[in-house]
Amino acid sequence: MDENRIETADCVVIGGGPAGLMLGLLLARAGVDTIVLEKHADFLRDFRGDTIHPSTQEALADIGLLDEFLALPHTDMPRVSLRYGDRDMVLADFTKLPTTRKAITFMPQWDFLDLLAGAGSREPTFRLLRRTRGKEPIVEDGRVVGVRADGPDGPLDVRARLVVAADGRDSAIRAAADMVPRRLASAMDVLWFRVPKERSDTHPFVLAGDGTIITIDRGDFFQVAHVIPAGSWSADADGVAAMRARISRLSLSLGERIGALAADDVKLLTVRLERLRRWHTDGLLVIGDAAHAMSPAGGVGVNLAIQDAIAAANMLAPILRERRPTERDLARVQRRRALPAAFIQRVQRVLQEPLLAPARSSRIPLPLRALQRVPFLRHVTGRIIGVGIRPERVRFRVSQE
Ligand SMILES: Cc1cc2nc3c(=O)[nH]c(=O)nc-3n(C[C@H](O)[C@H](O)[C@H](O)COP(=O)(O)OP(=O)(O)OC[C@H]3O[C@@H](n4cnc5c(N)ncnc54)[C@H](O)[C@@H]3O)c2cc1C
Repeated sequence: MDENRIETADCVVIGGGPAGLMLGLLLARAGVDTIVLEKHADFLRDFRGDTIHPSTQEALADIGLLDEFLALPHTDMPRVSLRYGDRDMVLADFTKLPTTRKAITFMPQWDFLDLLAGAGSREPTFRLLRRTRGKEPIVEDGRVVGVRADGPDGPLDVRARLVVAADGRDSAIRAAADMVPRRLASAMDVLWFRVPKERSDTHPFVLAGDGTIITIDRGDFFQVAHVIPAGSWSADADGVAAMRARISRLSLSLGERIGALAADDVKLLTVRLERLRRWHTDGLLVIGDAAHAMSPAGGVGVNLAIQDAIAAANMLAPILRERRPTERDLARVQRRRALPAAFIQRVQRVLQEPLLAPARSSRIPLPLRALQRVPFLRHVTGRIIGVGIRPERVRFRVSQE
């Protein structure tokens, strides 16, 4: 019988998304021998969220990557504005945040992940194994001591002091460890599609009412997100015709451009709001979407995943250099990060109503009315979205070339 190839490290992270790559990079910079497993060969996948918030940019400044980040093609949004019926309003204002950068930055997620992976590759203690799928934790004497994986050269066992599952909302490692997240009610789904455009064309960022539309300018196309009631999408010609009619009511110009759109061009994101009760077992920690799948409302998922990674690195790097973390060490990470995730999920549930409500200019939903009447509140929403509660800073000194 063939023996599995074996690698060893201080820490093995499954998933090269925002959480996994940031954690891998920070641990490696702190001198922790780290392997990140990513099942894909590259980061060029479907649209997965392009927003890099001020809190994440602050972390990039902490680790000396902000200039490299800003040298990549990006656009900045200092305020999130919204058109509701015929009224324009500001949802969130980032201009007074106590951060280096006072805007949300839009950048394709693959560019951001390439930046983190590139920075990792400059560290001698960082290894990113692409095309390597983590399958299940290796358990010995009731403790997780590594992960079983499949790579381009066949089966592979990675043995480590700590296994971190950062493999997203459908986490295979979490499932194999019998960790089942609690599902919270979500009233919405999101349809994603591309709309061709001329480079100079513009469109309001958020159009609300009768199914909100969010339009992200990607140069030669708009990436459009259309919020609909959960379970209401029918992936056929009738569904597309109904969607086109709704979109035309909200934006004639967008409606005209999607005449040729077919059901296959539209991707359905079934929004899930989930949370694990316990993010750890002996030798295994779960972070990012795998611990708390977020709704796209507010575009906070990437940034919460990054914050989890920073907290985990701050708390665990000094331990991992010397020994295996105890369950108490892992519980401290959950204690620090569970509240911000739960709080944002609560805000996302409140946001569902205005995102789904039909546009009636005489009856603007209460949260939007409050934002219109009390301008100060826009800075509060800016703070909640842009920085969140309990923002993390990279605590240990990082090596820099
Ligand atoms: C359509 C869409 C739009 C979104 N829009 C936004 C937005 O605008 N702003 C925002 O902040 N958030 C957005 N989000 C949410 C955001 O993408 C996630 O919250 C965030 O990416 C979570 O990061 P993560 O690292 O925890 O997980 P993920 O980004 O899901 O990364 C997991 C990684 O693990 C890899 N992987 C999975 N299983 C395995 C395995 N078994 N072995 C090895 N590798 C594995 C995957 O390939 C992936 O690279 C959006 C999500 C979707 C789906």
